[in-house]
This record gives sequence, C-alpha cells and structure tokens, in this order.
Amino acid sequence: MLTNSLHELDRQHLIHPVSSFRGHEARGVRVLRSAKGATLTDDTGRELLDGFAGLWCVNAGYGHESIVEAAAEQMRRLPYATGYFDLGSEPPIRLAAALAERAPGDLNHVYFTLGGSDAVDSTIRFVRYYWHARGQADRDQFISVEQGYHGSTTMGAGLTALPGFHDGFGVPYAWQHKISSHYLYRNPLGDDPQAVIAASVAELRAKVDEIGADRVAAFYVEPIQGSGGVLVPPPGWLKAMRDLCAELGILFIADEVITGFGRTGPIFACADEGIVPDLLTCAKGLTSGYVPMGAVLMSDHVYQVIAEGAGARAIGHGFTYSAHPVSAAVALEVLALYEGGIFENGIRAGKRLMAGLETLRDHPLVGDVRGRGMLAALELVTDKAKKTPLPADMQPATRLFDRAWEQGLVIRSFAQGIFGYAPPLCCTEAEIDEIVARTRRVLDLTLDDPELRGVV
Ligand code: PMP
Repeated sequence: MLTNSLHELDRQHLIHPVSSFRGHEARGVRVLRSAKGATLTDDTGRELLDGFAGLWCVNAGYGHESIVEAAAEQMRRLPYATGYFDLGSEPPIRLAAALAERAPGDLNHVYFTLGGSDAVDSTIRFVRYYWHARGQADRDQFISVEQGYHGSTTMGAGLTALPGFHDGFGVPYAWQHKISSHYLYRNPLGDDPQAVIAASVAELRAKVDEIGADRVAAFYVEPIQGSGGVLVPPPGWLKAMRDLCAELGILFIADEVITGFGRTGPIFACADEGIVPDLLTCAKGLTSGYVPMGAVLMSDHVYQVIAEGAGARAIGHGFTYSAHPVSAAVALEVLALYEGGIFENGIRAGKRLMAGLETLRDHPLVGDVRGRGMLAALELVTDKAKKTPLPADMQPATRLFDRAWEQGLVIRSFAQGIFGYAPPLCCTEAEIDEIVARTRRVLDLTLDDPELRGVV
C-alpha cells in the first residue's frame, strides 16, 4: 500500500530530470531504497548491480560509514558558513589545497559550486571577465564539440551539443559554436588516429578564422565525451587541441565532470595526455555523489588577470552554497578513501572491464567496444559491416534499460542503442565479470526482439 501511494505521489508531484513527462507518467518510478558497495536494492527488495555508479558519480561506491561520519560531524560542528564577506570554514580550504596539489600544472585556485552545470556556467562568466580584464571584451565567442555535454544551465546547455537540450529552449546562442566530434566509430574519415587529429585541428583553426581570431574566448572539451555516447578520442587528440588553443591564444577548458576522480585511472584524465588546461571543471566523483558539489580549478595566469582586472572591486559571481562545509568535509573523506585504495582498485577493475567487454565483440549486435578505465561503452548495430543503428521505433533507450534491469543490471542506455558503463571504482573482479555476463544475456534476449527478427 505504502509503495503504491509513493508511486502515485511521484506521478502527481515529482518532476524527473531529463524525462518525458508523459512517458514517465506511463512508466512510473522505480524507487531505490538502499545500497552497499556496487549493489542497489529497490523497494521490492530486488538487488541490482550498479554498472553506472548512479549517474557516473558514486565512484567510491555506496555505504561508506566514514563518509556518513564526516558529514554528521561537520553538521554538528558547523553545518553552514558563507564564503562571502571574507568568511570561510576549514573543510573547503583544506579541500582547495588538496585539489591544487593533485591537479596538473598550475591549476592552483579553486572555486566551489553545487555541481557540474554551475561549474561550467561559472567558467563562462570567469572567461568573459578575464577577457574584459585584458581589454579584449570582444572576445565573447565560445566553441565546443558536437556530441559534447556541458550541463543544463541556460548558458551551459548552449555549449552542450545534444539536440534534446536545445529544442524548445532557444539555445544555443549565436555566440556558441561547434566543431565536429572525433567519434571514431562513425567518423566519415575512418578511424585512422592521425587523420582524425589532423581534421579536428584543421576544423578548429578554420572555425576560429571564420569567427575572427580576435573574437574567440575559449574552447570547451571533455577528455572523453560522456553523455554523447562515451566517445573516446584517439591518443594525441586532446594534446593537439590544447596546443592549438595555446598557439591561437584562446583559453582551453577541460570539462572533467565525468572523467575526474579516477574514472579513467588518474585523478584527472588530462594527466592521461600530460596536458594542463587553463580552467578545469569537476563534480560527481568529487563527493562520490553523497552530497552535491562541483568545482572550477583555475590556473595561476587566469587567476592573476582576473584579480588585477577587478582590483578592489568584488567579482559579482557567487552562490549561497559556494564552498559548503559539509560537502567539502565529505569530499575530503572521499579523497582519503580514493587514495587509500579505491583508485588503485579502479585501475585494476577498469582493465578487467575493458577486457570483459572486448569478449562481447563476437556478439552479432555489438558494433563497437570502446572506453578507458572504468568508463566504457558498447555500440549496438544490426549490421556490423554497414554499422546500421538499432531501429529507432524499437526505442532502444528504454527497451534496453528495462531489459538490463530485469537481468539485475543498471547501465546507461543511450537513444542510439549505446550501452554506457561507469561502475563504482570499488567493484570486485567478480562484480565486473557479472556486469559483463549480464550484458551478454541482455544482448542475447534483445536478438529475439520482434523488430530485430530477420534483420540481424
Ligand atoms: N559537464 C559534463 C561533462 C557532464 O557530464 C555533466 C553531467 N553529466 C555536467 C557538466 C553537468 O553536471 P551536473 O549534472 O552536476 O550539473
């Protein structure tokens, strides 16, 4: 009874993020009740392996008592402190120092936000302020990459390059431009890394020329495109783009909201290519999703220009919950857990995950297997040679998500028929093997779908 009424209350009152209102009313909510490690339990008592760490965020896994303690202890002592008026509290100061110490290069200054979207939005504001301070206010044009995701605020959604975030919202703005994604599996140039890198370099150069070299403020990129379908650039791509931005004199912003905190191995994926962005955004794994928090990491150079430009004037950008002490206390404990063994486990588990997913290449529906560390995807097709996507009328996103759920597995299922994986970094070898085994069952069952009979 209680469950039924909860489901009805959800239908009547709770608006779910990125959902079809009507679709959700019809399908209803699946209520999760508890979790431990990488295992979720729903309100029927059913257990599921979380192959997606919530929403690519619970990197440390569920149920760490020490994180609960850190939050409770901070709430008891000081649940809130503003950062306005030169005030502050200990946890965000220690966290900023810890991040600066671990971040690549001279990303020594940290601005805390509530999540990833407002971290991205904050960078847009900081970048504009930076160019004003340098006397180049006309540098107000921004470039990002097709299939990219940079959040859901009005300005960030325009840098995002997924149609569902634009249609009906009046974005992108005229100052937001895109270049093509590397998307190796479907790149018209083929999958030769050097050709793809050269094409991206040429396209960014041409885009900057077209807009005007003195008009471009910044280039935004995810080290691995997440929400676009886990698109991994060829080795050397990120570095080539970073070097080009330096040559052209435009700021390079790495959006590490998904790739940060051990997802690909190191604490930040920029380290995979030895690059240092001018600004870096992160969130998700920062607190492992236990409480909301994001951050902007700012290089010495950007910081000094903004500081000099503002002089004694306050820089009008802030949130009530910037540098929240409870979130920061959680993040510090999460970092201690990561460095106490979870990062290392994630590196081992990531190798096993990639090797396991590779064994699925023999399946008639698997067109591509890609990923790095604990961030991976399978792209499903009905014809491997032609790379034919699953039929859209099959509604792969909901159909495949449901089928995985029935097999006790939570994965991300993208509309194009892509399975996304981002398991907690604490997964055991047995759990990784089970994720792969359950995926094979989902694929086998999908072969029997009426829409695919006689097609595959
Ligand atoms: N940037 C990237 C690369 C992301 O993947 C996301 C979230 N998936 C965001 C920004 C936005 O973060 P949030 O949902 O915490 O606002």
